[in-house]
Amino acid sequence: MPLIQARNVNKVFPNGCHALKDVSLDVQRGEVVVIIGPSGSGKSTFLRTLNQLETITSGGIFVDQVDLTDKRTDINVVREEVGMVFQAFNLFPHKTALGNVMLAPMKVLKQSKAEAQKTAESLLERVGLADRMGNYPSRLSGGQQQRVAIARSLAMKPKVLLFDEPTSALDPEMVGEVLDVMKELAKEGMTMVVVTHEMGFAQEVADRVVFMEDGELVLEETPERFFHSD
Ligand code: ADP
Ligand code: ADP
Repeated sequence: MPLIQARNVNKVFPNGCHALKDVSLDVQRGEVVVIIGPSGSGKSTFLRTLNQLETITSGGIFVDQVDLTDKRTDINVVREEVGMVFQAFNLFPHKTALGNVMLAPMKVLKQSKAEAQKTAESLLERVGLADRMGNYPSRLSGGQQQRVAIARSLAMKPKVLLFDEPTSALDPEMVGEVLDVMKELAKEGMTMVVVTHEMGFAQEVADRVVFMEDGELVLEETPERFFHSD
């Protein structure tokens, strides 16, 4: 069974914008799917439907066989299982890197402070920030802040991580360090759906590349075929 099944998803915004038109996509466990396409083609909207940040107008979305459109489905549980990393990292400015990563596990997963700290420390090590745990966001570079944001998402032990243009807000010299962390996660078997303009990442890391245009998913390919289609 695929971990994510999106079936004929349609999204019509209240202003009439038909942002998603019959979008269907399966994502297998451990798979990395990269979504590319022009600005305004619906990539971000689609990603946001996968954790119900955006409701859908019609169609179905199942995560681990749970129907997200079923009114009985607890959206908070869905958001724990489907983590999201945004373009803007949105860290709490008055909390250290460690504090930011500990917060949700304590508040949402009801972990003890000691347990949350242990998890947060190991995650910050994993994203290469062992020596920055006590820093406040203002004392971290953009790349470091985004790595904290990734650690923060991982702390919720999600079944899948969604990335919405995770490197677009970064200075060019910091893009690599964030992509490296994402590559490492992919290697470790994390299921990931990534909206990005980083074609190198798509080519190197994606199991599948999906192309969106005008609200439609128009092409699904392996990177080999996508990037060498002559
Ligand atoms: P992409 O991520 O590919 O740039 P988006 O998913 O952000 O595209 O947007 C897809 C389309 O939906 C665009 O035409 C955009 O203007 C429209 N859209 C996005 N959010 C809203 C909204 N909240 N209300 C109305 N239209 C929206
Ligand atoms: P992105 O492509 O990264 O999603 P946008 O600039 O398209 O960025 O959208 C930024 C925000 O504005 C999003 O929250 C989106 O939902 C909203 N938005 C985009 N287009 C419209 C629109 N036509 N009407 C209302 N809200 C919109």
